[in-house]
Amino acid sequence: NPVIVWLRRDLRLADQAAFHAAAQSGAPVIPVYVLDDEAPRHHRMGGASRWWLHHSLSRLDADLRAIGSRLVLRRGKAHEELAAIRREVGARTVHCLAHYEPWWRNAERAVAKHFQLVRHDGNYLAPPGTILSGAGTPYRIYTPFWRALSERLPPPLPVAAPAHLPAPANWPASDALEDWGLLPRAPDWAGGLRAMWSPGEGGARERLADFAEAAAVYEQRRNLPAQEGTSLLSPHLHFGEISPAAVWHAVAGAGGSVGTFLGELGWRDYAQNVILQFPDYATRSAKAEFDHMPWRTGPEAEADLAAWQQGRTGYPIVDAGMRQLWRTGWMHNRVRMLAASFLIKHLMIDWREGERWFWDTLVDADHGQNAVNWQWSAGSGVDANIFSRIMAPLSQSVKFDAAGYIRQWVPELAGLADGEIHDPVVRPRGYPRPIVDHGAGRARALAAMVQAKGEA
Ligand code: FAD
Repeated sequence: NPVIVWLRRDLRLADQAAFHAAAQSGAPVIPVYVLDDEAPRHHRMGGASRWWLHHSLSRLDADLRAIGSRLVLRRGKAHEELAAIRREVGARTVHCLAHYEPWWRNAERAVAKHFQLVRHDGNYLAPPGTILSGAGTPYRIYTPFWRALSERLPPPLPVAAPAHLPAPANWPASDALEDWGLLPRAPDWAGGLRAMWSPGEGGARERLADFAEAAAVYEQRRNLPAQEGTSLLSPHLHFGEISPAAVWHAVAGAGGSVGTFLGELGWRDYAQNVILQFPDYATRSAKAEFDHMPWRTGPEAEADLAAWQQGRTGYPIVDAGMRQLWRTGWMHNRVRMLAASFLIKHLMIDWREGERWFWDTLVDADHGQNAVNWQWSAGSGVDANIFSRIMAPLSQSVKFDAAGYIRQWVPELAGLADGEIHDPVVRPRGYPRPIVDHGAGRARALAAMVQAKGEA
């Protein structure tokens, strides 16, 4: 009987334990991707992710064909589609990598009722749920989590891609990728994405090779948005085009400040650790007082939200970040933190509005990482951050030397000198005045927190 490899966010051949095990079994292998837009409900994949997925699936199919196989595409509930494939070709065993989004855990339970389901690890440095304190409980705070995870590192050495995958006598029916409509129709907003990214395993490997040379100076450059000082691996890691173990082993020997970078990979594991404990973390504040927060709503708040989304807040660094996001599907981490803080605190708009916008526009949109970082930014989460820590967008823009970055993404300001561009006194035509005053916004946010705490 053939065996099925059920693919989700693990679209690679190298260091992919499900492929490895299926290839070792000697049985014919049927690689299947099932697109299910119903199960994730409000976390149905967003526009930028769908663009990425299209190209990643296309690359994977090409890579599979090069080793005698192909990718079967189906649309619907995973267990129903896999059961239909079994009726077509008689497979009884399904290999997959474990995933921790609540909808994927449900889908795994449903598939396990129909098949012998073999779940493998490999999308995290250590299997989520296994990093526990001495008392056997999961961690809520990053630092002790990372300390405990570090004791389990390095991760196992990556396993090479199979050289050949035996094909079944008959292939089950497959949808055509083009019919899924994952790419934008008119207007085509993906030009900036195409210019920046090469989705797929080959593109991921190239990014990693580029970064490996710079990993030793990560600490010095990672907070400077005008430089390419970070790895740009996030969408590749999200879609599982490269394993974190492969990333680890490629850079860990770089010396210098590579330890800081490895700690960021640790944040990725930490996010899953939080989501496992709080499956509704993307939609629910962990701290009770946030249910009493007087978030702004109504037409004025909606106009402010739109200004934030479009990069028209009058705060140059925030606007540069939001425009970078819209054009490329990615934003520098330092600027993500500033833009999030600005929405939540200066504009007093519910962090979930920001989470939703990022979910739709990021190519690296990830249920765990997005929710954990938004709740961290709000100070509403289980981690140690607090609401009253309000980032000052103007001084941060100076501190992290964002002039070149602003020039790149806000062309209206490109003619201004370094000293002026962070907070122009005279605004070039077409560039808005700040939609909120920094001091007034800050005072309003602090008063709101006092009120919420009083009511909680
Ligand atoms: P590098 O600095 O090279 O880091 C390497 C890898 O470590 C990243 O690819 C990523 O997988 C992981 N990582 C880095 N920083 C973090 C972090 N703070 N939390 C968790 N993992 C991290 N990252 C996502 O992958 N998906 C998201 O949906 C996402 N939403 C975010 C929302 C907000 C409000 C903020 C402040 C941050 C968010 N991040 C998210 C984290 C971070 O901004 C990105 O991972 C990072 O900018 C990606 O660029 P890079 O690959 O060059 O990162």
